[in-house]
Amino acid sequence: MTDRPVRVRFAPSPTGHLHIGGARTALFNYLFARKTGGQFILRIEDTDRKRFVPGAEQEIIEGLRWLGLEYDEGPDIGGPYRPYRQTERLEIYRQRAWELVERSAAYPCFCTPERLEKLRQEQMRNKQQARYDGLCRDLDPDVAARRVAQGERYVIRFKMPRHGVTIARDHLRGEIVTENQYLDDYVLLKSDGFPTYHLAAMVDDHEMKITHVFRGSEWLSTFPLHVQVVRAFGWEEPVWIHLSVFLKPSGKGKMSKRESAETLKDGYSIFVKDMKELGFIPEGVLNWISLMGWGVPEDDVMTLEKMIERFEIDSLTPSPAAINFQKLDHFNRAHIRRLSTEDLARRIKPYFLAHNLAVDDDQLLRVVPLLRERLVTLDDCLAFGAFFFSETVEPAPEELIPKGLSAQQAAQIARRVYAILEAVPDMEPVHTEPPLRAYVEESGFNVNQVFGLVRVAVTGQRVSPPLFESMAVIGREKVLERLKRAGDILESMS
Ligand code: GLU
Repeated sequence: MTDRPVRVRFAPSPTGHLHIGGARTALFNYLFARKTGGQFILRIEDTDRKRFVPGAEQEIIEGLRWLGLEYDEGPDIGGPYRPYRQTERLEIYRQRAWELVERSAAYPCFCTPERLEKLRQEQMRNKQQARYDGLCRDLDPDVAARRVAQGERYVIRFKMPRHGVTIARDHLRGEIVTENQYLDDYVLLKSDGFPTYHLAAMVDDHEMKITHVFRGSEWLSTFPLHVQVVRAFGWEEPVWIHLSVFLKPSGKGKMSKRESAETLKDGYSIFVKDMKELGFIPEGVLNWISLMGWGVPEDDVMTLEKMIERFEIDSLTPSPAAINFQKLDHFNRAHIRRLSTEDLARRIKPYFLAHNLAVDDDQLLRVVPLLRERLVTLDDCLAFGAFFFSETVEPAPEELIPKGLSAQQAAQIARRVYAILEAVPDMEPVHTEPPLRAYVEESGFNVNQVFGLVRVAVTGQRVSPPLFESMAVIGREKVLERLKRAGDILESMS
């Protein structure tokens, strides 16, 4: 471990949507920084221009903001080690690549793409591992420098030791020993002057004084190269933490593009941008992803503060985690329940507004306690509570007729309930419940029949929050109007 002040970074490439894997990497970085009083940096690794997606950086920034993972330095807010976008740092990488050439740890390579392709084919035919054969490795440095000066196209390759082993230490996995003969002379600087990840990330982690690198385990295969590059510069290595991989819900393999798209049909997504629209709240999403690869008891409901308090690198686990959307539901629901009435009201209001429902704020504050327990996702507020704010409801006529009764009997109930409610001073349960229960007694119909009908009549649906409390919030005028309408419908059916 290092005794430098903690500085960690989330270093996504803007090549697509921010997904839960990236969000989890960001989260663990954030937790560690906050836990240790360190700094959390956002760095955009945009040097792979073939995979660059316009707008992706903005989506990353918005996703982090939505999740509440605030960073201390980044491309949009600056910081002492700016710039934080790698394409704005190209000159730094170029100089560093040549520094390695001077240290005899790297060399310019002039092999054409055609030659490399031929080489690759030949190696495939001979069932050999595809790798650079080292043709330019031993060129006389002066000759090489002259060829560069003459404008010949070149890349800079790392001069990987041919013998011995590389010992790289991952904090979760221990020492990883690789025989150097299986490693390649990887390209560090491409012929267009852009660095590869192998150079750019190592240089930036050094320049930005990064002490701990939390990153995806897809980097384990080039991990030996990375430690070699850092060592060739003579720099102090960060603590390396390769996080566990996410597997698809079945636990078999990683989720494909097509499978990710499919999940949307079931109301789930692995992309942060969809989560909000699907009605998930940041607290629920964070809790869910935090437990993938973090060995704290599985069903713990944790806020971000709680996570900071409990976070320890040593309790992260390297074993793969299967994505389980039922757990996302579980945590989302649990966190919705913890929200204050005002907070939940603020969060569900947009869903009502988006459905052109006129929302009265005072009324909304009374609706929230009735809905809270029923919401798995925020948008469930529509299914359970749109009727509170709609002008009218549209009950299905057949649903107005209680089991075992005729339309005529149902009409009679609707008329009678209307008369009873018209006579009470207001819709508060203390005034509505006793006379309606008395009516059930004397009418000979049962509770389910009478209250079931009233429920469908005033809410338009069979399932709703508690009936009497709901009527109080809907208000006298609308309740009576809806009962009258139900009576009319039933009469026309009898
Ligand atoms: N740009 C790399 C990626 O998105 C970052 C890996 C790292 O954190 O070093 O995979």
